Amino acid sequence: MKITGGTATSYTVPTDAPEADGTFAWNSTTLIVVELKAGNATGLGYTYSHSVIAALCRDMIQKIVAGSDVWQSADLFHRMRVSQRNYGREGIGATALSAIDVAVWDLKAKLLQKPLVALLGQAHDAAPVYGSGGFTAYNDEQLTAQLAGWVAQGIPRVKMKIGTHPDDDLRRVALARKAIGNHAELFVDANGAYSRKQALDFAHRFRHEYGVTWFEEPVSSDDLRGLRLLRDNGPDGLDIAAGEYGWNDMTLRAMLDAEAVDVLQADATRCGGVTGFMAASALAEAHPLPLSAHCAPSLHLHLACASRPLRHVEYFHDHARIERMLFDGFREPVNGAMLPDLTRPGMGLEFKRQDAESFRDDI
Ligand SMILES: [Mg+2]
Repeated sequence: MKITGGTATSYTVPTDAPEADGTFAWNSTTLIVVELKAGNATGLGYTYSHSVIAALCRDMIQKIVAGSDVWQSADLFHRMRVSQRNYGREGIGATALSAIDVAVWDLKAKLLQKPLVALLGQAHDAAPVYGSGGFTAYNDEQLTAQLAGWVAQGIPRVKMKIGTHPDDDLRRVALARKAIGNHAELFVDANGAYSRKQALDFAHRFRHEYGVTWFEEPVSSDDLRGLRLLRDNGPDGLDIAAGEYGWNDMTLRAMLDAEAVDVLQADATRCGGVTGFMAASALAEAHPLPLSAHCAPSLHLHLACASRPLRHVEYFHDHARIERMLFDGFREPVNGAMLPDLTRPGMGLEFKRQDAESFRDDI
């Protein structure tokens, strides 16, 4: 069956408060929505990226996707990737490819009237989540209210950003630990802000003084030797995690070959959609390491439930807020996990175009 055509549209949604991490700050988030048609079904995909992605996706839909057989999705994925060789398969090229690939898989599942997780092969009934936010732009009240709020609603794992003001990090982590009590897990994410030895010193203090169990991108994820140093010399019980900028299976494999992480992260909106995420899952399983899905919780839900090495999905404040606002079928976490609705086809999501109209970018 041929894909007859599709659209790609960019929406820029202001955050509910200024947000920042160890290496970046932002006041809005750009969502690119791809819809593809075949028969009487519409497949949905999306990514969080730059608005120019919408134009790039439309170009790929017109030149490559339209007229392709929806069931030959592996061949279509390969042809899309080859077409990006001269302008860049990583970064924005990878996010465009990812959004389209997700739409292709959602379309296949909708044509079959099956939930996407059934097509992929279900491994878990539900996907455990961790609350993620704790931005460095937050004041103490915002930080503690957000993290304690997730714990109060039954999410037993929360993550905060660090690294913007290293002199203040231990104080903020202590504050967070006090706010969530001793039973919830506390994760930290430096987004690559620290130097190697600075990160190693913090690793021991976070673990021993505040019971932190997850240290994400303590150094830049480009510094595989630095991550390895942290993994080998950090304290027991503190997982080193990275992988959110793994743009394809080869970059993720390099991270695993370097023995740089205890838990591999992958983001289907960057690493090649459903095709790329399931490749990441196979890589993690073969090494063998746990896999954690980065951001876009609604998009990852079915994929996560089909990933055997899954540890959890990042329930990122910013994305959860946008997805709750703009997608019918959004699943609220219950008892710390998201449960796919197996009565709905595909990812179980419908884009609320009318509600999004005021955020649409002119591109
Ligand atoms: Mg991160």
